[in-house]
Amino acid sequence: MKEIILCKYGEIILKGGNRPKFENMLIANIRSALKNVADCKITLKQATIYIDKFDDDKIDLICDRLSKVFGIVSITRAAVCEKNMDSIKEVAKAYLADDFCKECTFKVEAKRSDKKFPMTSIEIAIDLGGYLNEEFGNIECDVHDPDIVVRCEVRENAAYVYNNSKKIKGQGGMPIGTGSKAALLLSGGIDSPVAGHMIAKRGVTIDAINFFSFPYTSDRAKEKVISLAKIIAQYTGSIRMFIVPFTEIQLEIRDKCPEEHMTLIMRRFMMRISEKIARHNGAKALVTGESVAQVASQTLSALDVTNAVVDMPILQPLIGMDKIEVINRAVEIGTYDTSILPYEDCCTVFTPKHPTINPKRSNIEKSESRLDVEDLEARALAGVEMLEIYPD
Ligand code: ATP
Ligand code: MG
Repeated sequence: MKEIILCKYGEIILKGGNRPKFENMLIANIRSALKNVADCKITLKQATIYIDKFDDDKIDLICDRLSKVFGIVSITRAAVCEKNMDSIKEVAKAYLADDFCKECTFKVEAKRSDKKFPMTSIEIAIDLGGYLNEEFGNIECDVHDPDIVVRCEVRENAAYVYNNSKKIKGQGGMPIGTGSKAALLLSGGIDSPVAGHMIAKRGVTIDAINFFSFPYTSDRAKEKVISLAKIIAQYTGSIRMFIVPFTEIQLEIRDKCPEEHMTLIMRRFMMRISEKIARHNGAKALVTGESVAQVASQTLSALDVTNAVVDMPILQPLIGMDKIEVINRAVEIGTYDTSILPYEDCCTVFTPKHPTINPKRSNIEKSESRLDVEDLEARALAGVEMLEIYPD
């Protein structure tokens, strides 16, 4: 029996005149997600994307990859039938045998987009439902609250039968590449990978920037950030990553500025340097992982002090989320286990014992004026290493 995969997409349908452009982008992203997985044919018809002509044993892997492509709302495996009731019944019986091996309730829903087919949708549903009921003694029809919804779609070239209850949930969102580019400040923590995923989900291409404090943070800490970027790349396609040497700046701050201002001054350097990298590479915004009040540097006054040095939008998608919500999201997208590996981040190494929690811009600016900000920034930028990160 021949199986194909049907993908439905959501928000793109609302995009009016831009719809074809967004559809083409989605198809290009699907093609690229499946490139090293399987040869297949991808076609779009009537707001459905058909994946066809692949090796049977690749179907699970293909579905897994599709479940990470932004823009797809659902993924369904379906059996292909000829466009007559005999074929539809025969295929449905064989295809649903496993699902109907236990006692359960079911209903059939039919859709006929080919209006030349001699039966109406309701007639198809009644005919197929009656047949399945006769063939499988242990199932019972329940149109209100069935365990299994069987769907039959009669389309232009063929008919399809599937168990709609086994539909795989897609990511939703918008196809990557439809929403210009942003630069994600990616640490090794739990929050920033989730923040990056959330913005990428809106169709935004992501560059990643990491601040690295060799030798205070080890090569394993760097590997950890690269691993996180690889996981994000499973959703976005390959990511460009910039690694910024941060040790000299941190040592200068430690030596010349009041200890309680250290974190905020460090964060201001990160933001300024990131803005420069972002602008140089065509990114229109920065993305960070703060949520209000999570730590001292994330009070509203601290965010004011940090964000004041940047003149481009700073997207903070986790800003109103609780830690537990962020953790659940990290587990869902697959970054959590890597994020909790113990290798320290550049900030943890230089954390003051008593950070200011209610800072004023003027005080921090005064402390910062003890440093040659421009020179330190220029030296860090001169040492930036660029990597191209491919999905795992
Ligand atoms: P995360 O879990 O993302 O590390 P956090 O709760 O530890 O976040 P902070 O250390 O205050 O928060 O950092 C706030 C944000 O600043 C991070 O979410 C991230 O976007 C950015 N950031 C922090 N450290 C780094 C780093 N070493 N390199 C790049 N960005 C960083
Ligand atoms: Mg952190």
